[in-house]
Amino acid sequence: MELTSKIYVAGHRGLVGSAIVRKLKEQGYKNLLCKTSQELDLRDKNQVDQFFEQKKPEYVFLAAARVGGIVANNDYPADFIRDNLQIQTNVIDASYRNGVKKLLFLGSTCIYPKFAPQPMSEDVLLTGLLEPTNEPYAIAKIAGIKMCESYNRQYGTNYISVMPTNLYGFYDNFDLETSHVLPALMRKFHEAKLKNQPSVEVWGTGSPKREFLYSDDLADAVVYLMNTYNGTQFINIGVGKDISIKELAEKIKDVVGFQGDIVFNSEKPDGTPRKLVDVTKLAGLGWQAAFSLDDGLSKVYKWFLDNVEEAV
Ligand code: GDP
Repeated sequence: MELTSKIYVAGHRGLVGSAIVRKLKEQGYKNLLCKTSQELDLRDKNQVDQFFEQKKPEYVFLAAARVGGIVANNDYPADFIRDNLQIQTNVIDASYRNGVKKLLFLGSTCIYPKFAPQPMSEDVLLTGLLEPTNEPYAIAKIAGIKMCESYNRQYGTNYISVMPTNLYGFYDNFDLETSHVLPALMRKFHEAKLKNQPSVEVWGTGSPKREFLYSDDLADAVVYLMNTYNGTQFINIGVGKDISIKELAEKIKDVVGFQGDIVFNSEKPDGTPRKLVDVTKLAGLGWQAAFSLDDGLSKVYKWFLDNVEEAV
């Protein structure tokens, strides 16, 4: 990409898209195209075609998607598979028909089989059954990867896909029912501190392990890959190490400054014991994460405090 290239970031208001926009601006890219979902409904082919014909973007980051936690995925499976298939099909195909030079598609590690060996390398895709609760979403994401690969094969395009591990950062979902563990615990500890509660409940036993990637690191990785990677294989993006939920809870407790106790509720599900991606390929391409979890947590808590009205 040149600093003056026309770059379209689809989904620029979300956790991922907003981090990509910040990163591009920080690196001096001047010609960014962004549209809110009110201005441009990516599920509508006519609107997408019109936008591409008028604006003619040269590079596309496809970070727009319908996303949600386990409850949302379970309750609205039709919305998840339909909206994601529509968004990605419209954007990928319009990119092809309008001569986009390169497109980067954002997937998710839920595309991997539920019982994949850890850490999960890119090669385990389609080697086993998926986690049933988010299977419709995962199938849409797998279709997105295969669509990029197929366009490259048949039409000679340059569309790459990346699979980020669990992300956290600004503009995350802090809703206690539907969010992931990190923002949920940040909010729980914060509110417990304000209300002087004696303890905070953490779901499950605390022993499952998870990997957490800061959204600014993800943005750095995708901009780096957009500029340097032209291979056919999709790439995992992660930090290459995981921590237990107990350790995570202790870190968040410290960052927030909560003085009470942590109580584990083993009536709540633990979920998968471990979910870690293999980042060998990414490391081989010369990229690694820069933020430690401690640094990322401090930044996100500061952001949360400044944006608490909007965040909760
Ligand atoms: P997962 O990575 O798909 O399992 O999704 P989550 O981020 O929702 O959960 C990860 C782990 O954190 C699970 O073992 C949860 O039981 C545990 N956990 C502990 N407290 C919470 C909480 O308040 N909210 C969520 N979502 N998970 C929690």
